[in-house]
Parts: sequence; C-alpha cells; structure tokens
Amino acid sequence: MANANSPKLSAPREQGAPPRVRFCPSPTGNPHVGLVRTALFNWAFARHTGGTMVFRIEDTDAARDSEESYEQLLDSMRWLGLDWDEGPETGGPHAPYRQSQRMDRYRDVAGRLLAGGYAYHCYCSPEELEVRRAVARAEGRPSGYDGHCRELTAEQVAAYEAEGRSAIVRFRVPDETITFTDLVRGELTFTPENVPDYGIVRANGAPLYTLVNPVDDALMEITHVLRGEDLLSSTPRQIALYKALIELGLAKEIPAFGHLPYVMGEGNKKLSKRDPQASLNLYRERGFLPEGLLNYLSLLGWSFSADQDVFSVAELVAAFDIADVNANPARFDLKKAEAINADHIRRLDVKAFTEACEPWLRAPHANWEPERFDRAAWEAIAPYAQTRLTVLSDITANVDFLFLDAPVEDEASWDKAMKPGAAELLATAREKLAAADWSGPEALKEAVLAAGEVHGLKLGKAQAPVRVAVTGRTVGLPLFESLEILGRERTLARIDAALAKLAA
Ligand code: GLU
Ligand code: ZN
Repeated sequence: MANANSPKLSAPREQGAPPRVRFCPSPTGNPHVGLVRTALFNWAFARHTGGTMVFRIEDTDAARDSEESYEQLLDSMRWLGLDWDEGPETGGPHAPYRQSQRMDRYRDVAGRLLAGGYAYHCYCSPEELEVRRAVARAEGRPSGYDGHCRELTAEQVAAYEAEGRSAIVRFRVPDETITFTDLVRGELTFTPENVPDYGIVRANGAPLYTLVNPVDDALMEITHVLRGEDLLSSTPRQIALYKALIELGLAKEIPAFGHLPYVMGEGNKKLSKRDPQASLNLYRERGFLPEGLLNYLSLLGWSFSADQDVFSVAELVAAFDIADVNANPARFDLKKAEAINADHIRRLDVKAFTEACEPWLRAPHANWEPERFDRAAWEAIAPYAQTRLTVLSDITANVDFLFLDAPVEDEASWDKAMKPGAAELLATAREKLAAADWSGPEALKEAVLAAGEVHGLKLGKAQAPVRVAVTGRTVGLPLFESLEILGRERTLARIDAALAKLAA
C-alpha cells in the first residue's frame, strides 16, 4: 500500500530546534498587502530565530488558481527580498512545494484517516444538509454537521450506494473541548458544538483545503503557524486533525498558532483583497522601495519601539518577536506609508537613489524622446529630488523639463501663475537673468528677487511665472538649481516663448 510518495517524517525533532514557519498563499489574483504582511511576519520570525522559511503554494483549486498569479507571487517575494529556504524553484527536503503536485500524498493520508476510523464517508446531499441546518437554526441548536453519517452500518452504506449516491470524506472531530494558546491572543477555548465534523475530500476525490493545509504543515514539520485572523476559526478543526495525524505517526507535534490582526481600510472596514489600495502592484508601480513598504507593513500589528517607526529590514529582523504582535485590528494608513517610504528614499546613498529611479526615466514612464535623456543633468538634479520624493514615480514629472524640448503644457499651472502683471515680471526677470553670473544658483535667485522688487513682488510671487515658463508646472524642485542645470540658453529661450504666448 505504501508507495514511494507515501508520507513519512524524518527523524524526531530535537528539543529547542529552530522554528520552521511557512508562507502558503493560494495563487489567485494579485498579491495584496495583507498577504505581504503575513509573509513578512513569518519571514522576520524565521530570520530572527535562525529558523527555516518554507514557501508553499496552495494550488488545489484549479478553477481559481492561475500560473500567472503563481509567477507573480514568486516575483513579488523576490522584489520584496523575502527569501525562502524551502519552496518553489529552491526545492528542499519536503519537495514538491506546490500542492497540485502532492495529490498522491493527500490521497494516501485520507485513506489512512478512513482506515483508522478518524474519518468516514458522508452520503448526505447538499439539499439534505441544508434542510437539517435550517431546522437546527430554527430550534436554536448548533447548525454545523449533525453527525448523521458517523455510524452508518454496512447495510445503510450499501443502500446509499445502490441509490447511486456519492460520498464525501468527513473528518470525525472528537467530542472534546479544544484549548490552545495563541501566540498573539493567549488561551482560546472551543467547545465541541462549535467544531463539527467537516469535509476533507470532495465526492469527486479532490482533497479540500481543510485537509491539505494541515497535512502539509505536518509533513513539512512546521512548528509555528502565523497567519491572518480570518483563519482563526479553522484552527480548532486543524488541531483535531493534527491529533489524528500524530496518532497515525504522520505528525510530530501540534504547531504553535499565532493569528495576526485584521487590517482595516477606509471607513474602518476590513481591507478587502479587491480594494485597489490593497494591491501590492500598485505600491510597486508607484515606486515604493521594498524596504519602505516592508517597514510600513510591519507596523500593522507590531511596533519597533515607542519612539521610532522608521527602520531598516535588518533592524526589523533583529527586533522582531511574535510575542509583541498586538491582537487589535490595525489601520492601513496610506499617508503614513508614504511618509515612511519618503524617509527610506532619503536614507539611500545618492548612487542607489539614482539607480532606483531609472525605471521611471525610461519608457513607458518618460514623456521625452529617449535620446534626449542627459545623464549629467540627471545626476546634477538627483540630490535635490531625493529629499523631496514620496514615491519614486514622482521623479518623472519633476525632471521632465530637463529632457523635453519645451516644458509640458499644463493649463492649470499656466493660469495660476500667469496672472496680469506676469508678462512685465517675466520681461524684467529675463533681462536680469541674461545679465547674471550662471556659475551657481545664488546669482539666479538674486536676479529673480531683483526683478520682483521692480514690480513690488516678493520672491515667492516673482518666481512663480518663471517656474511655469521654464518647467511648465507650479511645483517642482528648487527653482534656481533647476535653472542652473537647465542652462542659460534654454532658460532664456523658454521665458521668451512664454512672453510670446502671453503677448499673443
Ligand atoms: N492558502 C491559505 C490562504 O491563502 C493559507 C491559509 C493558512 O495560512 O493556513 O488563505
Ligand atoms: Zn452525512
């Protein structure tokens, strides 16, 4: 009966052996921030303790799983720098790490559970179950499975089979109270009426999440299960299954469980996977740094210290302890995420910053012809951009004036800056800038300041039309440094063009 793929365990675990954690997403849709937070906490725990990070793909739902989503998961983990010790492409002693390739194991375990009396065939049809549930509800009794098929006789089974009924495999949950100590929530107790017998294999033979998830945790010798609070209700059933697996020699010990708090979005509603704000790709496309995003996501349920919320991934790993995770729901705060990301951008050395910006200086982001990109100008302006960006994607609009033949045409900016008197101011500024010393920003500032004085304008008011004439926008990087880097000829030509437009 036992074949080469029959489940087996390696040598017994040593006392105090390092933890083994797992990140086990289903490859459906795009990765979302809740999922990344789960991956991060598992990874940080593994790295902090010198444990093992297992990456497992729960792709047993062919209708919903996709190869594209699988590729995205791996790519996202790599982009974030959340590496795994065992898992897809890396392999490991418990390979394969994709559940779709482990079906023989689940079949084998289900067979043993049936043979040992830990599970039974249930012939109830969905309609019959629904009717009995409704009655139970109406009578105020627990509405979970009622144990109907627990003790079927051979005659009853034969009769059902003769009717042509098919059976699911249902796990027999012992009638006892289940207590465990959640690493985040402390001691939790579940009474038997809250943990009814549950299906583990469909009538068509397909194993369900309820079976494959704990079976793989057992076979892969997972010691700590850290996952979202939405899975808390499945934990008592899994513990019951684990006890059976231990009795069958298929598991060594029940893992410790820690349920991470819900992440709340707008209006204090649970952040849903489908919420656009939840999509990891969005943050990546906007130019969050992996470090900035991980820093922020780590604060969803955990804190580094009372007075510091910006830290490196290395500092996070050094400080992370699952015992410090808070059970209260965490609020996803985009503004805070951006502020933390801005801090991480500032922390980069200039070279790393210029490299990180590169994707946004090329197609499809760049709005200039590729050959117009001027590396010297970019390197000159980069330090001024670095202290001002929230996300890297903002770089494009901040520097495009350097690489476009003419500044972008932004009507709102134009109308805001080119009020009556703007032409007179610009004409004077052009004169003074033409006569200025272009070897640094100071003299250029003096020139615009002096032009403002002629027309009774403070520097702020005087520089607005100059900025829009030269960059096309009302906001941007420090103006006089920008003018210096753009150069005298192009600056004056753009002011001339604005004057012509104002005169038209
Ligand atoms: N594949 C399951 C999910 O994504 C994993 C649940 C767990 O961590 O146990 O919901
Ligand atoms: Zn039944």
